[in-house]
Amino acid sequence: MYFRATFIALGVFTFVSLHSQTKTVYYNQSPEYSSIHRIYEGVVIRVTDSIPVPGVEISVDRLGTEVYTNSAGYFKFEAPENISAINLKKEGFIGAREVILGNNKFEIAMFPENPTKTEEQLIQKSYVLTSFNDLSGESLKANESRLKSMLKTEVPAVIRVLMPDNTVVVMSTDEYLKGVVPAEVPASWDMDALKAQAVAARSYASVNFKHNSQGADVCTSTHCQAWKSTQNERTTQAVNETSNFSVKYQGAIINALFFSHCNGTTRNNESVWAGTPVPYLRSVSCPCGFTAHNAHGVGMCQYGTQAMALKDSTWESILKWYYTGTTVDKTQLVYGTLKGAIYQGSDNTNLSNRITGATVTLNNGLEVTSANEGLYSFDIVPGQYTVTASKPGYRSAAVTRDITAGNTIWGSIELTPNVGISDLPSQNVIIYPNPARDHFNINISEEANVTITNLTGQIKYNGKIRNKKLDISQWQPGIYIIKITDSGYSFTDRLIVTE
Ligand SMILES: [Zn+2]
Ligand SMILES: [Zn+2]
Repeated sequence: MYFRATFIALGVFTFVSLHSQTKTVYYNQSPEYSSIHRIYEGVVIRVTDSIPVPGVEISVDRLGTEVYTNSAGYFKFEAPENISAINLKKEGFIGAREVILGNNKFEIAMFPENPTKTEEQLIQKSYVLTSFNDLSGESLKANESRLKSMLKTEVPAVIRVLMPDNTVVVMSTDEYLKGVVPAEVPASWDMDALKAQAVAARSYASVNFKHNSQGADVCTSTHCQAWKSTQNERTTQAVNETSNFSVKYQGAIINALFFSHCNGTTRNNESVWAGTPVPYLRSVSCPCGFTAHNAHGVGMCQYGTQAMALKDSTWESILKWYYTGTTVDKTQLVYGTLKGAIYQGSDNTNLSNRITGATVTLNNGLEVTSANEGLYSFDIVPGQYTVTASKPGYRSAAVTRDITAGNTIWGSIELTPNVGISDLPSQNVIIYPNPARDHFNINISEEANVTITNLTGQIKYNGKIRNKKLDISQWQPGIYIIKITDSGYSFTDRLIVTE
């Protein structure tokens, strides 16, 4: 599987579009490459936990393999400046989310092949910037803790800042922001403009990790966000009074892009960079008062925030104006735990009654296998869930529980051995009258599959029933075979239809 990054005239990679191997689009003829070369470098990480992926084969267009990522997931190669695609290949992975731009450096987060539906949904929710139209399949069992790391719903407590001298300083996120806001906009601006900048910068810093290979999250230049050690009383106030607030789209913190000023209208992301339209990066009108763009023009216009604030817009309404369809809040998504034992018999505290190897399925699609001592556990978003346990030889059973934030709710499930109808006394299947003429009744102790064939194997009736009166007035006289099946067990009887 490959993905393809699209190179555009502005000279930066931004978004990647994902294609399966069969859908990779190549040139009909070789492109004419520039004689000007540049260095491409970056790091490839796993989207689920940001761990570097070594051994990723990196090729450019159809030029062949350029390089493999090293043990830190790092790659570097030289290629013409006008290449059109970078292909990544690694067993077990497909595609990627956004490729971060700037200084010819990239961070590429690869997706696992065949994620579950739940994983797909969470990836889509978490990385709205991505186009990943080829994710499908359910073979990869979800691991909730990995899913959690994909959902960027909370502002990180600390940030690792790569200093100009290449040292890494770990500081609280707000401490970092107190150096960002005065470096990005004049501290004399209206307080609502400063607060909008603080929240946009906090959101951006929460979801961008361009310096993983250097053991850092952000640097101090505009490659990430401008940062300086000098703080200002007013910008510090803006950071303090918006602490923990971030901009979210469908519950996930957004990649809050911003820029100096536009020409009166911000831009759609896909009209500036290749890629899928991002619902919150839409073109909107802007009162910044300039007649030309000075930057990419996608997201929040800094001069526009000041113009809006001077017209008494609040920082929340400013953010919602530039980031379409978003919310601004500081709520934190706290998971709850659904945990239980799969067991048989009346005493689930007796470990010998516990059942390992049962398939435990949540109604949101997550699935685990009961492990040692028959235990299962899910860390999930609060809500009501039904969890079903099944294992061959047992009847499936389910419990429903309300999961609340931060709490562990127990949902143990008793399985009973599967007793087939053939194991039951014969009176649990009653067929009467027999012989029959125009109709007969079939009564079963519980619902089961019933198939009735004639002696040549032709099916006369098939259905899942418990009690039923069947019309046989059109059936030829003769002997019919009634087969009743239930979870691998079967019971066969004969029905005689008379003239
Ligand atoms: Zn940076
Ligand atoms: Zn503007």
